[in-house]
Amino acid sequence: MAEQKEKKVEDIKKEAEQKKCPVNKALYYMEEFLAGPMCGKCFPCEMGTYEARIRLKNITEGKGSETDLSSLKRIASDMLESSRCKKGKDTAKFILEWIDTGVYEEHFGGRCPDKECPALIEYRIIPEKCTMCGLCQDACKYNAIIGEKKTAYKSGYLPFEIRQKRCTKCGDCIKVCPTNAIIIVDVKAKEKVSV
Ligand code: SF4
Ligand code: SF4
Ligand code: SF4
Repeated sequence: MAEQKEKKVEDIKKEAEQKKCPVNKALYYMEEFLAGPMCGKCFPCEMGTYEARIRLKNITEGKGSETDLSSLKRIASDMLESSRCKKGKDTAKFILEWIDTGVYEEHFGGRCPDKECPALIEYRIIPEKCTMCGLCQDACKYNAIIGEKKTAYKSGYLPFEIRQKRCTKCGDCIKVCPTNAIIIVDVKAKEKVSV
């Protein structure tokens, strides 16, 4: 079997930048850095990235606090100063880039302003807008959408609905819905948002 090529820090950064939420970006970066380029040869980078990942995960799940934020700032500053190579320093810079924008604090209350952190959002179908075309069901790789496609000469349809336990929040269904019937809901606030 062909050996999988290790990702470079520059590639991880580009992928992380595709995400909208700064906390989600940082968590993605940290997980990929740990899975590949982080070599463990120096303490501030090794311990820092492990601890930063835990803190970031807490925050993306709405369980974070000021303590997590202060720890992240301390970790990133230590990494920036004491990491042995550019990879560790670049990682620290990536964490620090968004840390004082207020978006981290918004997550403490269980709200992701970009509606991206999976633990804080739900995808829902508005029945009144749904034409039962079934495109979302075809697009969902996780078999998370139930419902029956509308066909001629038939009544008594099962309305389309998202099974939350199966939904991975990948967003594929929203991209294909022709009537904007799928929305992202802020779980905590039960707030409807436009997509
Ligand atoms: S800073 Fe560089 S040398 Fe040190 S653990 Fe990180 S990747 Fe390895
Ligand atoms: S967000 Fe992804 S997993 Fe969830 S229902 Fe839509 S396509 Fe399926
Ligand atoms: S794609 Fe939109 S309109 Fe079609 S079944 Fe799904 S939610 Fe309804």
